[in-house]
Order: sequence, then structure tokens, then C-alpha cells
Amino acid sequence: MLDRQNRTIDYLRISVTDKCNLRCTYCMPADGVEDLTHEEVLSFEEILRVVKAMVPLGVKKIKLTGGEPLVRKNLVYLVEQLHQLPGIEDITMTTNGLLLEENLPALLKAGLTAVNISLDTLDPDRFRQITRREGLDKVLSALDAASRSSLRSVKINCLAVKEFNEEELPRLALLAKDREIEVRFIELMPIGFGKTLTPIPNTQILETLEQVYGKSVPYEGRLGNGPAVYYQLPGFQGKIGFISAVSHRFCSQCNRVRLTSSGFLKLCLHYNNGIELRPLLRDGISDHQLTETLREAIYNKPLHHSFDGVKPEGEDDQLELKNMSQIGG
Ligand code: SAM
Ligand code: SF4
Repeated sequence: MLDRQNRTIDYLRISVTDKCNLRCTYCMPADGVEDLTHEEVLSFEEILRVVKAMVPLGVKKIKLTGGEPLVRKNLVYLVEQLHQLPGIEDITMTTNGLLLEENLPALLKAGLTAVNISLDTLDPDRFRQITRREGLDKVLSALDAASRSSLRSVKINCLAVKEFNEEELPRLALLAKDREIEVRFIELMPIGFGKTLTPIPNTQILETLEQVYGKSVPYEGRLGNGPAVYYQLPGFQGKIGFISAVSHRFCSQCNRVRLTSSGFLKLCLHYNNGIELRPLLRDGISDHQLTETLREAIYNKPLHHSFDGVKPEGEDDQLELKNMSQIGG
């Protein structure tokens, strides 16, 4: 469907849990967040009902996220059920990779089409410093398994943070040298703990990569469902991507809404505008009413974020106070 700004909304990010097996400093407090109770989290049946109600509105692409999506029990079942829904064409996942390798065969069989693996460093000490946990070996092994698999696409999401990985970024880009994957650099957003760290502008990263690996060529094709722009570096099999939400606002092309694990339909990453779907689902809303409620909410999606402090004119949107682990990225 089109929203009031004529943006086509066809993509839903579903956070299936806000629990996580890492504690990344930019995302979660050291001792985690208070767990939602079992009753507060949408069941798979409730999630599927919301997705079914969105299909008539034109939603056809789903991203599973978290917290860490793979810590939710039986996630493969959800993928399988989503895959069977007529109208759903693409089911992808964003994961920290720790549990990916062991689940990969079942996920592929269930219909998962692509994964994004979050990885900010190749150094075990720094991995521990950033994530406050162990596990780099597992992530790298999962990356190899995923890139050898039948997945349509494997992407690395690397958050570029001055305090952590500035001098390591060329080495991370190298992951795309001999693999047909995309390494994407993501600008840190001033949300939650992200406000306490220093982003590195993507233009600066591209300049550094070109100094090390030679002049890049912009890639004109489309890769995936999001706002990344891609470049080809000489001699690289894979591509390098940039998601520059802060330095280059791409809200006019935004195609997505988000569903949190507690059932809040979130209309923009930066604001807490949206609707609580859980009470509606549990109070017996009809399928038709649910679709119409979603249609009205999505139509009124905020015009743009205000990371630069400039709010859309005439709007009184409340800024988001949740951590990224509760939003899903
Ligand atoms: N646990 C999964 C993972 O790490 O991929 C999925 C959830 S995580 C919240 C999704 C993405 O959000 C990760 O790639 C993470 O790097 C990114 N992220 C977390 N905090 C961020 C921030 N302040 N700005 C930009 N991206 C952020
Ligand atoms: Fe967990 Fe992902 Fe947040 Fe790291 S970024 S704490 S892996 S949810």
C-alpha cells in the first residue's frame, strides 16, 4: 500500500524476542533488559495473524529479528508457516550468528531466503569488549556455512564505531574479497546506547577503503530490500555496501514497518508512534477490522526521522526511548 507520502510499504520487520545471547554495548545494558513474561510476547499464531492481515495491504517481504531471533524456541516453525502464506515472497533474518550454523539446514528447508550476520570485529578480544560475551569463532564458522549454502544472499552488517573498530574496517571489508557476499557498513544511530558512542561517516569509510584497495565503482543493481548503496572494489568477488541513515536521510524511500515482540506496530525507527496490537488480537478483533486498523496506522507513518534534531513540520511525534534490542534494528 501507499502511505500518505506515497511511499510503497511492502516490508515488515518482526522482532520475535527481545532476549539475546550477546550484550552489545551499543544495544543493551550489561545485565540485559527485564524479560517480557511469556504472556506479554506474541505467540507464533498471533504473529502469523498480523502478517496475514498485512498481505492484502501489499506486505510481501519479512525480516525476522530480535533481540536474537534464534534464541526464540522453534523459530524454524515460524519460518515454515510464513513460507506457506500466499503473498509472502521473501523471508530473511538478521542474526548475530552464534546459533546460525546449527540451525541453518532446518531454516533452509523451512524457506529462509537470506541472512544478515552482524559482525563488527575479527579480533576475539575486541569481540568480547563489544559484545561482552565469547563467540567470534562460531560467528565466523556460521558465515562460512551460510556463504556455501543455497541462501540467495548473505550479508555482513558491520556497525562502524570510532571507539571500537575504526582501524579494522578495511580488514572487515576483505571478507567480501573471495566470497560472493556483501559487507555493509552501518552508521551508528543515536538510539538507546548508540547515543553514547561516536559514529564514523560512511563517506569516510569509502575513502579509506579506496586508499587501501583502489577506486570503487558504484553498483547500479538492487540487492535486497533496504536502503543500502553498493560499490564494487577491484578484484573483490562480493560487494561493499553502506547504510547511511544519519548522514544521508533516506526516509523518502522507506518501505517498512516493525512489529515488536510484545505486539506493538512501530511505524518509524525513531519514534514511538504506532499501535498496540496485542490487546486487539486478544479481544477478538475480526480479520477485516485488523487489516483496516493496520491500513490506517501505516498510512500515517511519520514522514522522516529527526536524528539531526529537525522534526517533520506540524508533527508532534514522541522520540523512541527503547533500546535497539527491543526494536530489532
Ligand atoms: N541480534 C540480531 C543482530 O545482532 O543482528 C538482530 C537484532 S540487532 C538489534 C539488529 C541490528 O541492529 C544489528 O546489526 C546491530 O548492529 C544493529 N544496531 C544495534 N544498535 C544500533 C544503533 N544504535 N545504530 C545502528 N544499528 C544498530
Ligand atoms: Fe543482541 Fe543483536 Fe543487540 Fe547485539 S545487536 S545485543 S546481538 S540484539
